Amino acid sequence: MQISDIRATPVSVPLEAPLRHANGCHWGRFVRTIVEVETDEGLVGLGEMGGGGESATAAFEGVKASLLGRDPARLEEMRFALANPTASLYNNRTQIVAALEFACLDLLGQRWGTPVSEILGGRLRDRVPFASYLFFRYPHPTRATGEVRTVEQLVSEARALKERHGFGAHKLKGGVFPPDYELECYRALARALPGDRFRFDPNGVWSTEQAIWFGQQIEDLRNDYLEDPVFGLHGLRRVREKVRMPLATNTVVVNFEQLAANALDTAVDVVLLDTTFWGGIRPCVKAAGVCETFQLGVAVHSSGELGIQLATMLHLGAVLPNLTFAADAHYHHLTDDVIEGGRMRYEGGALPVPSGPGLGVRLNREKLGTYHEEFRRLGPYPYDRDPRRPGWAPLVPNDRWADPTDGTTPEIPA
Ligand SMILES: [Mg+2]
Repeated sequence: MQISDIRATPVSVPLEAPLRHANGCHWGRFVRTIVEVETDEGLVGLGEMGGGGESATAAFEGVKASLLGRDPARLEEMRFALANPTASLYNNRTQIVAALEFACLDLLGQRWGTPVSEILGGRLRDRVPFASYLFFRYPHPTRATGEVRTVEQLVSEARALKERHGFGAHKLKGGVFPPDYELECYRALARALPGDRFRFDPNGVWSTEQAIWFGQQIEDLRNDYLEDPVFGLHGLRRVREKVRMPLATNTVVVNFEQLAANALDTAVDVVLLDTTFWGGIRPCVKAAGVCETFQLGVAVHSSGELGIQLATMLHLGAVLPNLTFAADAHYHHLTDDVIEGGRMRYEGGALPVPSGPGLGVRLNREKLGTYHEEFRRLGPYPYDRDPRRPGWAPLVPNDRWADPTDGTTPEIPA
């Protein structure tokens, strides 16, 4: 089997409402690039990458010449052809390699008639539990629905998600409002959902002292972990000395060098593996093996996925013996998907691992066309800008918090 063509299609898929985070906002939609790798036998493997537009399309066009005629089973060969570590100093293609790895594994699974999880060592579980991923949200720009800003709105959103999807673990994305306000929100969640588990993630924007203070205020709750309270391994080590709960990261342990540094002088207890950031599903399996050796925890990170990347997270979750935490997904904030059958459905807070050959998801071409048109109409959005505060940019550590009493709806093209 040989690779005969590669296509990249940017899409824009609507969210229920704009998601606020420490660096800005997802402006009411996710922009993703859907990658199709075709072979001389007519099979099509699917991949997905964050962001989109001309730059992503051009990036895949750019690597196409090096890949045509190659065997999709030669994944290590592809890694060195596109992203050998010293060349990557000048052209970091990790996320491109990740999307291509997804597609090649999908091809191999289809060709061999087996799910990707069986290629990766065989599944240990058929369902992967997820946490509800709670964001502060602006109201939808035209419908004015979906706002999450007040304590009452947050608690009611968490209760509704638990009711609808069955989540027993909840992650609150903070770093938006002053830490004392977010503490009030987090404690209210824990009070409203007794017996459930919680995790908090301010995306590394606090000072070390703020992080220690916040951590100490929540030590009595049922915390899975405190995620990226500060940015940097040294800051995390300082927080870890003074806060009695596991720390986690998806920002400062995202490659094997950093994983080695963390094993030798531990800064975080739990590493959130992201099939995109690490360059594919297989590097995540490898990293989980290192974590197993050093008795570090692993969890699954979400970088804002549609169904194709979600499938990669499910196959990963299925094969990790040391996955002891619910996975994260932005997925329940989406209103639709580009895969056949529409959005995957949670049952009891978990998603079934696809059982069809390859990744087990297929493209809905009509939806792909619709959301590609949406991308052409709306274009990309600035992930690190806040539509309510033009000209604003956060510091690290930050002190330019949003105002929790401001309930105005920002102008966002929709
Ligand atoms: Mg995070």
